[in-house]
Amino acid sequence: MAKALIIGAGGVAGVVAHKCCQVPEVFEEICIASRTLSKCEALRDKLQGGKTAVSAERLDADDTDAVISLIQRFNPDIVINVALPYQDLTIMDACLATKTDYLDTANYEPLDTAKFEYKWQWDYRERFEQAGITALLGSGFDPGVTGVYAAYAQKHHFDEIHEIDILDANAGDHGYPFATNFNPEINIREITANGSYYQDGRFIETEPMSVMQSYDFPQIGKKDIYLLHHEELESLAINIKGVKRIRFWMTFSQKYLTHLKVLENVGMTSIEPIDFEGRQIVPLQFLKAVLPDPASLGARTKGKTNIGCIFRGTKDGRPKNYYIYNVCDHEECYREVGSQAISYTTGVPAMIGAMMILTGKWKKPGVFNVEEFDPDPFMAALDQYGLPKQECFDPKLPE
Ligand code: NDP
Repeated sequence: MAKALIIGAGGVAGVVAHKCCQVPEVFEEICIASRTLSKCEALRDKLQGGKTAVSAERLDADDTDAVISLIQRFNPDIVINVALPYQDLTIMDACLATKTDYLDTANYEPLDTAKFEYKWQWDYRERFEQAGITALLGSGFDPGVTGVYAAYAQKHHFDEIHEIDILDANAGDHGYPFATNFNPEINIREITANGSYYQDGRFIETEPMSVMQSYDFPQIGKKDIYLLHHEELESLAINIKGVKRIRFWMTFSQKYLTHLKVLENVGMTSIEPIDFEGRQIVPLQFLKAVLPDPASLGARTKGKTNIGCIFRGTKDGRPKNYYIYNVCDHEECYREVGSQAISYTTGVPAMIGAMMILTGKWKKPGVFNVEEFDPDPFMAALDQYGLPKQECFDPKLPE
């Protein structure tokens, strides 16, 4: 039995906390700690009364000393970081100082540069090894389950994987003209950046949203998919031996893209600070403040997500294609944990990753991406805790 410190109290944190409470035999006690205490307390009040003890704390996770001090008081076995990517390094520093295992769902991004890559966190490998603690990076859905799917395909279905297409489709409708399904600032930074894909040992950049095709998804139908850069390309290119091409695709509706284009054209997606009535503000942060809170979309969202990977390679000397995916229903997620499917598909794998470490199945000193571990126990837990896999051995292939 273990104690987990959950940092963040947004959409994903809410799901992680609910899911931990569904597994009291592992999570004996959780503490929800975030910048706004009232959000932590609201979650605590919702979850109190079950077998898992729940507490709430105010925490500024940009302040390493504050994180160290809370870890020393609560004494968790693991820190589950579901705040924002900006806090990854301060929280990792606090885990090092207190010799506590660490997990997150998104790689570090500096606040003032829209650039995300693993280098900053991979630089902690030696220090985590020496401290004898585990850091599991990117244990959400994408990154996260997509990496576990890759390890599973490699272990059970292929001798060699040559191409990976990661397909992330959201056919949910929340009824707002424009809203993002997870943190708007992080989401818009990701989409307005250049796209890129991995081919033959290098990354090839594309103009933002310039590569598009249609794909007919099982259970949700035909959608436009756009090529984006995504963090798991970086780790899969290293960890899936022999892979030649990896691409990441996400669906967007025309309505969403039109709103985004207008916001971009008027300067609202910029991360450069500007003077406004005597103080400095960052337009994108102001935009986040006026957009609907992703944590509030759950009650309004209908429809399904379909996220998965198509692999092409060889098995026993013959070409083989394999599609593995999960379909998740927004309304069912809301009924179960009070959130929409994007937070759900991220929060469930975060809980499972923590469970893998706490039960010793994925426990080893160092800094790791999910595809570096045995995928089987994680895959079994996905089936058990709400994200069952679907498989297709004759998929339609993206162009
Ligand atoms: P939200 O914006 O809903 O929640 C973020 C939370 O972090 C908020 O409670 C916020 O506090 C808190 N926070 C921000 N700064 C600090 C700080 N300095 N100290 C303490 N707490 C802080 O985001 P989501 O829940 O949608 O996303 C959480 C994470 O999950 C993000 O990193 C996102 O990139 C990642 N993600 C990963 C996915 C995957 O599949 N791998 C998919 C979707 C999201 P406050 O309430 O005060 O603002």
